[in-house]
Order: sequence, then structure tokens, then C-alpha cells
Amino acid sequence: MIEDKEMMVEEGSFRDKKMGGKRTSFKKKVCKFCAQKSEPDYKNPEILRRYTTERGKILPARITGTCAKHQRAVSREIKRARVLAYLPFDKQ
Ligand SMILES: [Zn+2]
Repeated sequence: MIEDKEMMVEEGSFRDKKMGGKRTSFKKKVCKFCAQKSEPDYKNPEILRRYTTERGKILPARITGTCAKHQRAVSREIKRARVLAYLPFDKQ
């Protein structure tokens, strides 16, 4: 889908602008949903917002540390939340 292309562009810009081309030290990545034994929910846009950029794009799992299972759930819930106007669509 279109989403995948956007993610790749996003990741490139992260590396260039914020990390100066290098991968610097990271906090240990743990999937927050696994750790808290919770599931992403479109009714909690405050939580979902942490998985989007300021412009409203969904962040790649390797940046947020979310596991594959919950990443899929996050993107599904974010899309639901967008339709219900809890979260913005990508702002131009
Ligand atoms: Zn998980």
C-alpha cells in the first residue's frame, strides 16, 4: 500500500536529519502493548498519537519498538481513529 512507501521515506529522513546518518544509542525497545498486556484501541487516541509523527503519519515499528503483531493492530486502530476524527490524516 501507499503507507509502506511513506514509511520508507520517513525513515530516511529520520536518519539524515535527526541522527546525522548514524544510529546512536537507543533505549531498549520493548513493545508497550506486550509489556502492559493491553491492545491498541481507537478509543484511546492519546496512546495512538505516540505511534504517529507530528504530521499524523504512522511510525515504523523499528522506531517505536512495537512488535509486528501490535504494529498491525496499531495501524488498524489509527486508521479507525482517523475516520472518527480522533487523529489527523497526514497534514499537507
Ligand atoms: Zn506486542
